[in-house]
Amino acid sequence: MSKTNLKALNKNELSEFVKKHGLPDYRVKQLIHWIYEKKVDSIKDITELSGTLREKLSDVAYISNLQLLNRQTSSDGTEKFLFGLEDGESIESVLIPDEDRLTLCISSQVGCTMGCGFCLTGKIGFKRNLMAFEIVDQIIAVNKVKSEKLKVKNSESKIPPLRPPLLKGGARGVTNIVFMGMGEPLLNFDNVVEALRRITEFLGFSRRRITLSTCGIAPKIPELYKKAPHVNLAISLNAATNNVRDLLMPVNKKYPIETIISACKKIPLSPQHEITFEYVMLDGLNDSPDDAKRLVKLLKNIPSKVNLIPFNPYDGGKLKRPSDDKVLTFQKILIGGDITVFIRKSKGQDILAACGQLKARYK
Ligand code: SAH
Ligand code: SF4
Repeated sequence: MSKTNLKALNKNELSEFVKKHGLPDYRVKQLIHWIYEKKVDSIKDITELSGTLREKLSDVAYISNLQLLNRQTSSDGTEKFLFGLEDGESIESVLIPDEDRLTLCISSQVGCTMGCGFCLTGKIGFKRNLMAFEIVDQIIAVNKVKSEKLKVKNSESKIPPLRPPLLKGGARGVTNIVFMGMGEPLLNFDNVVEALRRITEFLGFSRRRITLSTCGIAPKIPELYKKAPHVNLAISLNAATNNVRDLLMPVNKKYPIETIISACKKIPLSPQHEITFEYVMLDGLNDSPDDAKRLVKLLKNIPSKVNLIPFNPYDGGKLKRPSDDKVLTFQKILIGGDITVFIRKSKGQDILAACGQLKARYK
């Protein structure tokens, strides 16, 4: 009989497991504490349990761990982690340091089915959805790396890993989570919702510190708000006309711009909550002043902000990023239209860790 992976169980399933093995219900809380807060690698490390109980549980269950296959550090401090999964597939996660935050960009699928023309993840195709525990485990593993409990042998770091700085507020581990790694989270809806539940309940993250980015799977947007209210939503809009968006993002044929916008308008946003619209800027394709004016019109009456992401190139791609002047002109028009807008500096480009550059092929 194969052993049960305790990390793969949700709270109810853990309760059933505990009951099935004749243990009292308080063991559930204990297991959650040791697996998620103490981040133990194995049942044998749960020292709060008696030796006999640890042995008994180890006969029927285990705790899975992501394998750290590679760790690269960019000259700007961004780190990229390549993780191996139990079935031999691999995924990437990216850790982006900032003054007072340590943001982890996590993957939700192995590859992606969406095939957006500007995204390297889209080019490698799709292998499978991640299970909820594989999504959550990226956070646990990176925190273990940061506390030096998890190491890789063959690091390609350009600079040696530094002891993580103490952030304002004293944190050394991950403070913010963005679902912007490999994959389209809303196409792995149930696992992502369960992962969000565990990230908040078991790991203690506030929903305000979590952002989910979608290419615009419109029907799932209000559903996400029902299942996980207050999680920040980012929509990869990337174009202001359907003609251009059709060209860049095949998903637009199914869920065109107006469908996405009306899905966004249905969300009962609480005060101070806004939707982020991401806009990858591509030279000569979506970066004209007219595009900026169209964007202003589209976002009217939606509490929103825009992140302009000048395209991050990768080998073999033909697309180009616009000049800084063009990006600034675009930004000015949005500001003139009363839209909050940021130009996202893409970090980690020298190690292909920036948006759209993840492909997780282990050499
Ligand atoms: N599938 C989800 C989340 C992952 S992509 C989504 O599409 O939203 C995360 C972000 O990276 C998206 O906003 C996407 O538009 C952006 N992106 C993809 N490829 C890029 C590239 N080459 N340069 C800059 N941004 C890119
Ligand atoms: Fe998939 Fe997002 Fe990349 Fe599009 S941009 S291919 S949806 S990961």
